[in-house]
Amino acid sequence: MESPPLTIEIDELQTQLCILESHQEKLLERLRHNEAKLSQFQSLETTILSLNALRELVEHVIDDTRATFDLDYVSLVLVDENGDLAQFMKEDGLQLENTPGLILLENAISLKDIFGRAFRLHLGEFKPKYRFLFPGRDFPSSVALLPLVRRGELLGCLNLGSHVPSRYSPNMATDFLDRLRAILAVCLENTKNFEQLRRTSLYDTLTGVNNRRFFEQRLGEEIDRAQRCGDSLACLFLDIDHFKRVNDTYGHQTGDLVLAEIAAQIRSQLRNNDVLARYGGEEFVALLSGANEARAMEVAERIRRRIANHSITDHNQNTITCTLSVGVAEYNPEKVSPVSEADIQRFIELADQALYTAKDKGRNRVESGGIYQRKESNVVLVSV
Ligand code: GH3
Ligand code: MG
Ligand code: MG
Repeated sequence: MESPPLTIEIDELQTQLCILESHQEKLLERLRHNEAKLSQFQSLETTILSLNALRELVEHVIDDTRATFDLDYVSLVLVDENGDLAQFMKEDGLQLENTPGLILLENAISLKDIFGRAFRLHLGEFKPKYRFLFPGRDFPSSVALLPLVRRGELLGCLNLGSHVPSRYSPNMATDFLDRLRAILAVCLENTKNFEQLRRTSLYDTLTGVNNRRFFEQRLGEEIDRAQRCGDSLACLFLDIDHFKRVNDTYGHQTGDLVLAEIAAQIRSQLRNNDVLARYGGEEFVALLSGANEARAMEVAERIRRRIANHSITDHNQNTITCTLSVGVAEYNPEKVSPVSEADIQRFIELADQALYTAKDKGRNRVESGGIYQRKESNVVLVSV
């Protein structure tokens, strides 16, 4: 029998080799693509793990996920039962109405309808019931919906969408997405706790205004700002008159209510960027940025009048009226440069001493300690 020609065998081998080479090239290409994806994913992971502020986390998650996975739609839903998250982000300067990818829900009911009890990740075609997850006029063709779960609680979900119908299908591998949602859930929980802690450590829980620690932190910053901009800064010490009598007459609970109400009344007379803190007991301190002595006296007098004319009704229908004594001082950067820690303390003491003068002169009044000025380490009052 005649054997087949050798040239045919070689041709076939060459064809197969070409096919193998093309497979190998495709495999290598896929490998390179996956490597690039992994490195982008790791960088996304590192970024979100390093953030403490909720605002930053939200912005990075929405923008970086879109870029990393090259997506047409990304939205983040957060369950915000008592409005804390919205508050944290607003305080950090995030305009919620200008952050279309962020959706805050009062409860998790609508999410539970989608994810069921098992909180499983959803991959596949877009369904009308997902509309609320993708605010806007048009919708994706395929989606990946990642429930964010921590200790059995549904914190929200991250929603990825593509115009390409085959981008997400139910039988796809989900390793990356599973990892992303696990990390994001941990980050969200940590950030929430961190923000809560940051606030409780700087706020007075009874009155809702800042505490002394916050005041001391901000005082240094405000003095620096005043030095830099050449602006004056005023300090007000405000102490409730005969507050002990309120406690003695109506009880501690009413005393607490009166304290909170007076704090709110003082706050209502200040600008948003003015600092108001509970300095201790029934004493408050305010920092008015950009205010000189005359302006500070005006504000202090307005607050004094407001409190004196304000009645508070307690749980036993008792009507209580209180008065305030206020001490004022101005810090003028032109007169104190460079500034030292001792200068800052003396400036504060000037306002505090003015408060004692107001008490001595009969209470329910405003007194000024003048403008703080350093002169060979002495405090000089340039105007009273
Ligand atoms: P003055 O006009 O000299 O300031 O008199 P005063 O009674 O306001 O001052 P004093 O320092 O004698 O008393 C302060 C009172 O404030 C005594 C204290 O029990 C009360 N107080 C301090 N912190 C709180 C608080 O958190 N809640 C309540 N209810 N009372 C408080
Ligand atoms: Mg008092
Ligand atoms: Mg006091």
